[in-house]
Amino acid sequence: MQQPRIAIIGAGLGGAAAAALLQRAGFSVEVFEQAPAFSRLGAGIHMGPNVLKIFRRLGIEDAVSAISSHPDHWMSRDGETGDYLSRIPLGDFALKEYGAAYVTIHRGDLHELQIGALEPGTIRFGKQLADVRDDGAGVDLFFADGTRSRADIVVGADGINSRIREVLLGPEKPNDSGWVAHRALIRAGDLARTGLEFEPCVKWWSEDRHMMVYYTTARRDEYYFVTGVPHPEWTHEAGSVPSSREEMREAFAGYHPIVQALIDSAGDISKWPLLNRNPLPLWSRGRMVLLGDACHPMKPHMAQGAAMAIEDGAMLARCLAETGLSDHESAFRLYEANRRDRASRVQAVSNANTWLRTQEDPAWVFGYDVFGHPLREGVAA
Ligand SMILES: Cc1cc2nc3c(=O)[nH]c(=O)nc-3n(C[C@H](O)[C@H](O)[C@H](O)COP(=O)(O)OP(=O)(O)OC[C@H]3O[C@@H](n4cnc5c(N)ncnc54)[C@H](O)[C@@H]3O)c2cc1C
Repeated sequence: MQQPRIAIIGAGLGGAAAAALLQRAGFSVEVFEQAPAFSRLGAGIHMGPNVLKIFRRLGIEDAVSAISSHPDHWMSRDGETGDYLSRIPLGDFALKEYGAAYVTIHRGDLHELQIGALEPGTIRFGKQLADVRDDGAGVDLFFADGTRSRADIVVGADGINSRIREVLLGPEKPNDSGWVAHRALIRAGDLARTGLEFEPCVKWWSEDRHMMVYYTTARRDEYYFVTGVPHPEWTHEAGSVPSSREEMREAFAGYHPIVQALIDSAGDISKWPLLNRNPLPLWSRGRMVLLGDACHPMKPHMAQGAAMAIEDGAMLARCLAETGLSDHESAFRLYEANRRDRASRVQAVSNANTWLRTQEDPAWVFGYDVFGHPLREGVAA
């Protein structure tokens, strides 16, 4: 008899984590990714101790740690005066209190390490899922290139415009939050010329906008900013468009000289719409289940969106290992029961953009261990 197979749609940070953890739990997994290949796009990402503990299971914690910046603190500062609003201890404190490091890293470098944790040949690139059909005994997958496949269960890790979400819940565009993010990488050499001092991880705030800034490498030779700025409705077809120093100077007029120096030193600046969705009425049906942005997309202001996708993948693997693939419906209920409250809480805080603006205790996020946490019973069907 053929081994039961799990198909994951999307090899983003969530799908890649789910695949690697399911393989380690002994399942046969195939990942279908629409992109023909992955490249190192210009963006950084925070990874908290809650995720580093999952990377420990995957055997990539040390590799991630070795190429990341390890900030001692998350600083929050007033955008205009530069006054400190909070100093959240990370560094050794995070290691001791939360059980793993807090790092900032280039997103492409992180993704590469996650992909490297998969069994060779796991990802099928250039496979855009067009349709799925669950006939009760299995799921048929139909791809845009005319090919098809069949799996026992399907995990929708296909991001905010998830095709699996659409099949489960019908077509619905995500909400435009009315905000955009500007992103740019900056060479540290260009910063040195300004004579100013740049902190490893700092968020500059004012009433309705902010700029988050941090290093993306262990050598601290690459710095990165990502903003949150109110913006008229997003009318572009593209997922991002080029921005400019002029646009940013206008958006951050009156901000501190350090912020002005960052704008002046930035390389290519891009602009991204911040989209989200209201909590979904269901996370799974039959043989299909959702995770990450396909399930609970959020504004990125807490730097935990990918973390929630990776935690989802880890919890799904844990639940399937607990029940076995033949009882996937119990696994999916257990998974949702153990993820919905946490993901929804993070989604709400992230959308409100209040995280670490003042001196608060982040232990509920960073101290969490997806494999150590006692499992809550799944809700009856
Ligand atoms: C500006 C910004 C900054 C952020 N900063 C952080 C941060 O610091 N920390 C953090 O934790 N999170 C951050 N996030 C959030 C994070 O990027 C997302 O939450 C995360 O990428 C979600 O991962 P995912 O795997 O669920 O989806 P995605 O990363 O969107 O991956 C989905 C994958 O599915 C593929 N796909 C889509 N449709 C199909 C299809 N039909 N067939 C086949 N493949 C398909 C896509 O090509 C993609 O590879 C940020 C987000 C933004 C916008």
